[in-house]
Amino acid sequence: MSETEVNHGGCICGGIRYQVTGAPVIVAHCHCRNCQRGGGAGHSTGAMFPVDRFRLTGSVSEYHLDSAQGTRVTRSFCPVCGSPIFGRNDGTPDHVTIALGTLDDPSAFTPEVVIHARSRPFWDAMDPDLETFATQPDWKPDRDG
Ligand SMILES: [Zn+2]
Ligand SMILES: [Zn+2]
Repeated sequence: MSETEVNHGGCICGGIRYQVTGAPVIVAHCHCRNCQRGGGAGHSTGAMFPVDRFRLTGSVSEYHLDSAQGTRVTRSFCPVCGSPIFGRNDGTPDHVTIALGTLDDPSAFTPEVVIHARSRPFWDAMDPDLETFATQPDWKPDRDG
């Protein structure tokens, strides 16, 4: 994918639209309990981007919580239809993680890892070939590749 390719996304009602440019830093399935409650499913799937490659129109509501690592997490969602749009973590303040299912083409990016697998419900089967971590690995968004 070229660094100038633009992908668009938005919420169910259309009140929130966004675009991301280039390839994500990483795409992860997350089975943590907050992702399960926040999306109502066995996991969420997020694609991390540098914040300067993310542009949003519309106004989101925010909910703040503390992560298991002690960092502050902000979940941003549509106040009208409730769609989760993106999250931020003050441990990686220069990045946002968009909810992959909100892309106009959810197949635009390929999930690479599974995290918080110890909280995976038995009915939420994942690709066994994906690199899988019991909790949160300590990769950083500025890693190579
Ligand atoms: Zn909406
Ligand atoms: Zn999670």
